[in-house]
Amino acid sequence: MGRVASVGTSLRTLREVDPSTLRGRRVMVRADFNVPLTADGSVTDDTRVRETLPTLRLLMDAGARIIILSHLGRPKGVPDPQSSLEPVGALLSELLEATVEFIPACSGPEVKASVASLANGEILLLENTRFLPGETGNSPELAGEWATLAQDYVGDAFGSAHRAHASTEGVARAILAQGGRAMAGLLLEREVHFLRDAMSRPERPFVAVMGGAKISGKIDVIRAILPRVDRLLLGGAMANTFFRALGLEVGASLMEEDSVHLASELMEEAGDRLVLPVDVRVADTLSRDAEVQDRPRDEVRPGEIIGDVGPDTQRIFHSILSEARTVIWNGPVGVFELPPFAQGSLALARSVAQAGGGEALTVVGGGDSVAAAAAAGVTEAFSHVSTGGGASLELLAGKSLPGVAVLEKEE
Ligand code: ADP
Ligand code: MG
Repeated sequence: MGRVASVGTSLRTLREVDPSTLRGRRVMVRADFNVPLTADGSVTDDTRVRETLPTLRLLMDAGARIIILSHLGRPKGVPDPQSSLEPVGALLSELLEATVEFIPACSGPEVKASVASLANGEILLLENTRFLPGETGNSPELAGEWATLAQDYVGDAFGSAHRAHASTEGVARAILAQGGRAMAGLLLEREVHFLRDAMSRPERPFVAVMGGAKISGKIDVIRAILPRVDRLLLGGAMANTFFRALGLEVGASLMEEDSVHLASELMEEAGDRLVLPVDVRVADTLSRDAEVQDRPRDEVRPGEIIGDVGPDTQRIFHSILSEARTVIWNGPVGVFELPPFAQGSLALARSVAQAGGGEALTVVGGGDSVAAAAAAGVTEAFSHVSTGGGASLELLAGKSLPGVAVLEKEE
């Protein structure tokens, strides 16, 4: 594992609480159990549930009475059996080797009665919060009802922290208002520590690597991060828009005409801190059996499609990363899902993993980037792998996340 940041955080944290003050307390935990489910209700990827276990174990060991809230999928404020958290309850119970009581409701008298009968160290999982319309509307009534169930609140759902919902924000505020504590769980604290605190006081050289399909979706991050980094390495389809701004031929590649002007502005602002690919891998189609060619970026022909960065670019990126002390990576630099265009992203994943001779602080965020890192077999080498997609991008862009702000210490 790369270096671990040692900067402090401005959050109130579960880690810093005296465990003896949790004994017998009713603690509401907002977890992110938004896992992929098959039609017959089996969980196909349990990463998010596993990531929450340290927080739950800490609370169990301290003798807290634990009430868990989470959403799953996108039910529109009405019950939807396909999005029930019941299978997650079974999985959680297996992983914790403890009984987890599941209640097929998340408000009302049945919930109240189950909470009243909780013993120290026991866990109750309520049904999907998004079965109630008040959740996404951040209804004060719903938040108020949940607040009557608990004495303290632990926010651990980093992946939902960019939403001001009743379970991520409203109930935390209501519990604070009644004199309880609202604090960050171990997972959320770690995410904020790496994605915000470590990135705001980076050891230098600080290198960001951005890729993916569109600049429009990541423009806020690029803008926020550009003034802070020593180098921004850019690849993926978003580089095509920059090529176009340089007046280069990009053939039939994916690119955003509307953003060409923006790309010019960013290049001007960044000067030589912005590093674009010098060569690219092209083909006539983006497919599994595409015949590929590597070419200098100024030799792309009309009709060709850029699907990856070329070998010279991989070497340049590697050399810059080998000197780095802090690295943030978001977005594959090619269509890594297709083997002919995967090399650039796999090489990049290895270069980030070895950054600074393995001594750099390295953070990767974004579902596809995490998948590319896993495909390269280097996940374990990173200092931090983020569980939040949208939330991690917003945090990197310097935005205040409602589900984090409510856990912040008062100035
Ligand atoms: P993340 O999930 O890590 O945030 P994104 O979702 O932003 O990453 O981007 C990943 C997507 O970008 C992948 O589906 C990949 O195929 C696509 N992509 C990368 N390079 C190109 C390219 N040159 N042309 C088309 N798509 C690309
Ligand atoms: Mg993605």
